[in-house]
Amino acid sequence: MRRVGILGAGQLGRMLALAGYPLGARFTMLDKKPDSPGGQVAYMILGGLDEPDKIAELAREADVLTFDVENVPARALREAGVEAMCRPGIAGLETGQDRFKEKSTFEALDIPVGPWRTIESMDELNAALEAFGMPAVLKRRRLGYDGRGQRFIREREDAPDAFEELGGGDLILEAFVPFEREASMIGVRAPSGETRFYPLSENRHDAGILRLSRAPAGPGELAATARDYVGRLLEHFDYVGVLAVEFFVRKGKLYANETAPRVHNSGHWTIEGCVTSQFENHIRAVLGLPLGDTDAVGEAAMANIIGTHPAIEALLAIPGLHLHDYGKSERPGRKLGHATLVAESTATLEAPLQRLLELAWPGESLQD
Ligand code: AMP
Repeated sequence: MRRVGILGAGQLGRMLALAGYPLGARFTMLDKKPDSPGGQVAYMILGGLDEPDKIAELAREADVLTFDVENVPARALREAGVEAMCRPGIAGLETGQDRFKEKSTFEALDIPVGPWRTIESMDELNAALEAFGMPAVLKRRRLGYDGRGQRFIREREDAPDAFEELGGGDLILEAFVPFEREASMIGVRAPSGETRFYPLSENRHDAGILRLSRAPAGPGELAATARDYVGRLLEHFDYVGVLAVEFFVRKGKLYANETAPRVHNSGHWTIEGCVTSQFENHIRAVLGLPLGDTDAVGEAAMANIIGTHPAIEALLAIPGLHLHDYGKSERPGRKLGHATLVAESTATLEAPLQRLLELAWPGESLQD
């Protein structure tokens, strides 16, 4: 029996389970909400991710532990005595939780990042704004994701409010990177040290939330550089499982933005767009099974469904569309599902993609 315990039961946990069942894996998830996306498809233990006794209970049901969310407190994992069961290990997890550690690791591994500084006081913030110019982005070191825990500072007058709102310390300021595009690279590493990489994905965000990913993205040299950078991180952490790294692309160069020590939204297209999805490869890796082929099977586009559900009849009327509804109720800004299209060429992808975008975000033109 291959028993996997997942901390958190969101859509990532759900898709990990759905990918792992054909391999004979069995899933138990820890989450406060019984009706969570994962709770609808797996055994559940109800409890918080910061409760060592609940984590220990999950561990008793599992041979290996992995993560739906990256912000699981490492302290709780240590207290539960489950470090040795965690894949990825705690070092990779902790780095993804803390923007200071993340950026320091990028720099130590010679992975380019934009200018940044730690900020503990208004004096430091003023000095950094002077040095970087504006706009600049003030971010919490910890517990930020999907644009939460960060504020763009466009005018000096905005700085005190932003500083207070984000907690008045434990922050970093980043210079604004005037990128042409955003891209992400997803790699997977087995316990044996074998690594595989997915094609580069090009991503569009709005208000900090991913809207659209297209892949495989080029040019080839950029993808090769991204593979090299992600490979360094995988080695550095002696990592097991899927690791995603988001980059800004500026003048043909990559600047690392952040890591996600788990399967990633910009890799959802791999479910239908690659020979083996990021979810299946993560499960293969954490169970010590051989990794699968990561080649793309066509040109893919994935659009997130955010806040409200478009009519399912209209979505499914789009030829070739694959719908993934996470089983969540509507709420502004909430990721409810995604839809993927895979075609033989960019040209044949265009018409169904336009229709999908009209349904997913009526009245918006995020594509250009
Ligand atoms: P993050 O939570 O750090 O991934 O930021 C979410 C999104 O905000 C990114 O994907 C970018 O679109 C934008 N963003 C964040 N930091 C910067 C930056 N330093 N320069 C330009 N855009 C940024």
